[in-house]
Amino acid sequence: MQIEQALAPPVGFRKAIPLLVKLKVVLRQNGKCTHCNAQLGELDGLEFDHVPALQLRIWCEETKDTIPPANSVEHIEAKHSDCHDVKTYGSKATGRGSDITEIARTKRLNRETEEFRRRILAKTEGDDLPPSSKKKHRWPKRKFASRGRRAEEPERNQPVSEPGDE
Ligand SMILES: [Zn+2]
Repeated sequence: MQIEQALAPPVGFRKAIPLLVKLKVVLRQNGKCTHCNAQLGELDGLEFDHVPALQLRIWCEETKDTIPPANSVEHIEAKHSDCHDVKTYGSKATGRGSDITEIARTKRLNRETEEFRRRILAKTEGDDLPPSSKKKHRWPKRKFASRGRRAEEPERNQPVSEPGDE
């Protein structure tokens, strides 16, 4: 769907995390794993996790980067490699809470939101007027103008057809 692609990063988008960013992330966590809270140790044994996952972020065409940016220190977590595996694939039993499950869920939610929006739009464009008064409502502006000074304008027994804006 077009709208989803405009908002989500290109499939497989990834950026290498510079060493300096990694060090800052580790420092920010006081050298502790965000999963098990034990000392992180050597950089080699660590995985750096984007939180939220890159594919869940909004895509900015201008910067060719996500929002927040892929290498934003505040949005990366350092974990032991073992601990990282648990987050990416979920606990072996359920897969719940893993990024992969979350991404699928987000896609589904986007689709539902889109459908909902479309339904609402379809409603406000046509179906909200009772059939009998359709002809009299050819001037959309009039409705707004009359709102402020309802007292002066006789409504001629017309049912008020528009529910208040949210
Ligand atoms: Zn750990």
